[in-house]
Amino acid sequence: MGMWLEGKPVADRVREAVKEEAARLKETHGAAPGLTAVLVGDNKSSQSYVRTKENACRALGLNGRSIHLPAETSMDELRKVIEGLNADETVDAILVQLPLPGHLRTNEVIGWIRPDKDVDGIHPASLGLLVQNQPGLRPCTPLGVLELIKAAGVAIEGRDVVIIGRSLIVGKPMAALVTNASGTVTICHSKTKDLAGAAARADILIAAMGQAAFVGRDFVKPGALVIDVGTSAVSDPEKIRTLFGDDPARARDLAEKGYTLVGDVDPRVIDKAAWLTPVPKGVGPLTIAMLMKNTLEAFKLRRNLA
Ligand code: NAP
Repeated sequence: MGMWLEGKPVADRVREAVKEEAARLKETHGAAPGLTAVLVGDNKSSQSYVRTKENACRALGLNGRSIHLPAETSMDELRKVIEGLNADETVDAILVQLPLPGHLRTNEVIGWIRPDKDVDGIHPASLGLLVQNQPGLRPCTPLGVLELIKAAGVAIEGRDVVIIGRSLIVGKPMAALVTNASGTVTICHSKTKDLAGAAARADILIAAMGQAAFVGRDFVKPGALVIDVGTSAVSDPEKIRTLFGDDPARARDLAEKGYTLVGDVDPRVIDKAAWLTPVPKGVGPLTIAMLMKNTLEAFKLRRNLA
């Protein structure tokens, strides 16, 4: 029987360190590091993510604010807003909340952000620096996964690490970070032949595919560290009972919200893995903590303090 690798205690340690350093920087530089989130449109989930990020900033003594623009904002209008933030000395970190409305070209928009303020680490220059293993801002979720691996006490060097998913925000930067840490990486996706066979070779398995409970026991090598990045809302009571038995927290979710959040990994894999991150409360708390840490990094990068 493996152990649950909970995100909150790890995230709390990161947040505490950020809080202390933010206070120090405020004392020495007269201003706290500041994050500005840009939200276009009125997607309810995006609104709630942006609120969470602002509150997390405030709780740690960082300046968190957001700019809300109407759904019909044009490329030109959005560009002016981002250029204004690029030039604003009080803004250290800029985040464009994704997804953007369909008429806005995401890659072009991300390319307007000054790379040293690109707190999500997805500007082409940030990704280039990552591949070069040079200092720069890294995507928050993969950084959080590294913190979890460290917390489990598992060294990456020389390990076989399999990543399922090749998105720009999770899978690909994760592969580069693990390569930089001297792990041997296999990156899988929807066209991978024998996915379970590839995954079962992993000492460290990272699932970031967005398919509820897809990763079963046959994907997991006995004693592996399994990190579950995926989050899917599942409302089928039968499926929930199969995965979680009579867990009262899941029954409560279903009654109150009509769904429960399920990772990519079948939770019953805990029997076979050495460690498994839960969903929710595994990777999620780390993503937000690493966003706070990246805000500090951005402050320091721009002042050559990093
Ligand atoms: P994404 O852009 O949709 O990418 C999903 C990846 O998984 C793609 O590369 C896709 O392959 C692969 N995939 C999907 N179905 C597959 C299958 N049946 N077999 C093999 N590969 C498959 O998603 P994302 O943005 O990376 O996010 C992934 C998941 O992580 C989502 O559930 C998301 O909500 C979650 N997430 C959580 C956090 C957090 O903080 N907890 C942060 C970010 C994301 P192809 O490229 O071939 O299509």
